[in-house]
Amino acid sequence: MKFGTKAIHAGVHPDPTTGAIMTPIYQTSTYVQTRPGEHQGYEYARTQNPTRDALQNNIASLENGKHGLCFSSGLGATDAILKTLRPGDEVISTHDLYGGSYRIFTKVFEPYGIKFKFVDMQRVREVEKAITPNTKMIWVETPTNPTMSIVDISAMARVAKTAGATLVVDNTFSSPYLQNPLDLGADIVVHSVTKYLAGHSDVVMGAIITNDDEYAEQLAFIQNSCGAVPGPQDCFLVLRGIKTLHLRMQRHCENGKRIAHFLKSHPKVHKVYWPGFDDHLNHDVAARQMRDYGGMISFTLLDDRLEVAMDVLSSFKIFSLAESLGGVESLVGHPASMTHASIPREQRLESGLTDSLIRLSVGIEDAEDLISDLEQAINQKVEELSY
Ligand SMILES: *Cc1c(COP(=O)(O)O)cnc(C)c1O
Repeated sequence: MKFGTKAIHAGVHPDPTTGAIMTPIYQTSTYVQTRPGEHQGYEYARTQNPTRDALQNNIASLENGKHGLCFSSGLGATDAILKTLRPGDEVISTHDLYGGSYRIFTKVFEPYGIKFKFVDMQRVREVEKAITPNTKMIWVETPTNPTMSIVDISAMARVAKTAGATLVVDNTFSSPYLQNPLDLGADIVVHSVTKYLAGHSDVVMGAIITNDDEYAEQLAFIQNSCGAVPGPQDCFLVLRGIKTLHLRMQRHCENGKRIAHFLKSHPKVHKVYWPGFDDHLNHDVAARQMRDYGGMISFTLLDDRLEVAMDVLSSFKIFSLAESLGGVESLVGHPASMTHASIPREQRLESGLTDSLIRLSVGIEDAEDLISDLEQAINQKVEELSY
């Protein structure tokens, strides 16, 4: 089956009791047994829920995986994967990792004796250099936030295999529509379902997909033992959201492309970060491993003063100033004062995160309106302030 058909049908069956075409929201905590131990496969809702089952099977299918597990958030899923590690184990990850992942790595798991190393994963050699006999996991994100660094998943799979390490790919920014890491050799895919998969900015959820039976069993054990499971209502909302994932992603990509080119030719814009440009570092890798380039774009202004960026950010009429991404509506964010505020300025500047860097999650509105909004926001305030 092709992607759009799977988005709508995979894992979803009409309700056997009524024929209802949509998976019911099984709002229950427990299931009645006919005799002790005799039941229909469901005992207690932390362990299994039919609405969650449908979603887990659907997401697994979209990632071309055998097993899917959903969690109460992306970080809940991340937590479960890290719990497969033991004291002394080492993890190599990218220096521009999602901030919440960086926090759980260094503030929660490091005190338990797990070691994390952060390198520039755009360069495979840097990862190879960081490998030691204790390296148990390589944790990739691609594209990364906010400069859209591209990491070669197949190359990472080769490095992980040689080192005997597990390759985890956080596929949140691409969604399964743009990229399927399991097909490129990854062992585990993790998603913040909150973003593109749910797609409507109304749910927080995470997911793990794998083809490895042993990992699947271990992670299901952790899901049940630690209990970070999503509720059935949220599972229903995500099942509904995913039915249009392919249509939404097509429009995110179309709009993203038009806006990236608009920004690149704008006289007041300095740099534009979008993996679809020929001169984006590792563009060839992106072209190989992604089906299109997505709707995440960052740009900097020629006038790099913080107050200029602040005024531009306050002038948008359609883009909403907010954290998060991947919803139908366009969002704009300012990493220096929002998502990356905890990183010291000097360190930020080193990785291109200047004061005027603005990040867009391009939604699925009409591109003309989004471009007019960008035009007025960039022009109006920069002009007022430049003298
Ligand atoms: C949002 C996000 C997460 C965390 O997911 P939550 O659902 O917010 O817990 C992890 N990785 C990436 C890349 C994200 O954007």
